[in-house]
Amino acid sequence: MDAWRIIALDTGTSVIEKSILTYLTDVGQALRIPRVMWYIDGPRRIIVDTSAESPEVAEQIIGENLTRTADQEPANALKRIGVRGEDIDYVLLTHLHWDHAANNHLFPNAKFIVQRDELRYAYAPSSFFEKAFLSPQGGYLPPFLHTRFDLLDGDLELMPGLEIVKCPGHTPGSQAVRVRTKQGWLTVAGDAVFTYENLEKRIPPGFHVNVDAALASMQKIAAISDEVLPSHDYRVFVDDGPREF
Ligand SMILES: [Zn+2]
Repeated sequence: MDAWRIIALDTGTSVIEKSILTYLTDVGQALRIPRVMWYIDGPRRIIVDTSAESPEVAEQIIGENLTRTADQEPANALKRIGVRGEDIDYVLLTHLHWDHAANNHLFPNAKFIVQRDELRYAYAPSSFFEKAFLSPQGGYLPPFLHTRFDLLDGDLELMPGLEIVKCPGHTPGSQAVRVRTKQGWLTVAGDAVFTYENLEKRIPPGFHVNVDAALASMQKIAAISDEVLPSHDYRVFVDDGPREF
């Protein structure tokens, strides 16, 4: 049985209001979070999420303070672990928010997989969410506009030990990636689980289209995983730099 390795890459730092992550909890508290891009190595080379737009777009359109050191530039983060974008076989996008799908151009030879209802919603979300997707409906230019996707409807075993699990709630077509590693089944949750606190205290993600679905998805992920890797928690890193699971 093939075991896969997962490497977390820190591709930016934001300071946000905490209840965006933990629903109606610690309102008004500032929290420092990472923008994580995940590299999965095994029989194939895989990226989960392509990180955020530039700090300029974050500030001017989203209204968020995002900083990136040279090491945190997505292309440099890959270089630092010896990975070339051209060698990536698959890019699995957990969802299409501005901070998860903005650097697809780094992977010219990859197949891009997203849920069909995620792509549909990203083009025509409810008005409140237009900005988060940089949706054309809001007059924005989404970074994934020129990406040709393989569209999924639900769960898929992509390869032995590597499964895509649909987990709606944060967005309609959110998906997580369940990976068999030497430590057991680890799940890269995307924004279905923002932080360890969501899991530990069973608090749904604060930003969601359907809070009940978000809670159910989080419970589903926890039930099928030996360990869950949240999307925006600096505890996935031990020190400065990449972390391997
Ligand atoms: Zn999101």
